[in-house]
Amino acid sequence: MNLAYKYNETNTISLNFEDIYVGSLILVNYNHQLNNIAIEKNINLINLNDEIKLEKTSINNLLELVKVSKIQNKLAFVSGFRNYKEQREIYTNSLKGKGFEFTSKYVAFPNHSEHQTGLAIDIGEKRKFIDFIRPFLPYDGIFEKFRKNASLYGFIERYKKNKTHITNIAAEPWHYRYVGFPHSHIIYEKDLCLEEYIELIKNYKFNINPFVLKYKCFEIEISYLKYDSNNLEINTNNIPTTVSGNNIDGFIITQWRNCNGNL
Ligand SMILES: [Zn+2]
Repeated sequence: MNLAYKYNETNTISLNFEDIYVGSLILVNYNHQLNNIAIEKNINLINLNDEIKLEKTSINNLLELVKVSKIQNKLAFVSGFRNYKEQREIYTNSLKGKGFEFTSKYVAFPNHSEHQTGLAIDIGEKRKFIDFIRPFLPYDGIFEKFRKNASLYGFIERYKKNKTHITNIAAEPWHYRYVGFPHSHIIYEKDLCLEEYIELIKNYKFNINPFVLKYKCFEIEISYLKYDSNNLEINTNNIPTTVSGNNIDGFIITQWRNCNGNL
């Protein structure tokens, strides 16, 4: 998976319809399933440990996040990337063991699970017994710092209690999703869920009225570009630019300027 396209040396980025379905901001939920293109485009998975794989950029950020939060010995990685077959098995087993009511709240239907993107990780406090579907990750104590830092390393708590009416998933304090910085930071500060963020950014059109985030010595512009059935070529004016599909109908473009307006 091309999580992000960064073009420092060229002025243009070419985008086609396949790019809608890949990138760190793809929305995978009950309405929007993971597209076959994303599955075929070889997610760049690497091992987090003997059992768990994650997409490479998210692993690098996760390990850094754990390190700065000083919780290496206190947490357990419970579940990361799952392929279709594994997700189907978890779904079926949950249905059999716990019934539909429970399953519909906590386990996504195959191809509607963020775990299939390689960008989601379930994290629990290290304990003798860890519930695979619902590991326990506290909000207080040493984990408070981890939760605060997460947004600086590109991660969001994906299924919050106050957003269940939008996400259709019960509160899952243990499920973290990599969306990349600065998106994670904005989502955290504005208390949004990913569904709301994707909608919000649609109001900020590329080259017209970008959303501007001032962060340290940067002015970061975030904008939306709808896919219009032709291959698109965007001019970046030599500004460091990353692009992600939204898995619906277009792209989210992020451009990094320094505070003088250039880079
Ligand atoms: Zn999860």
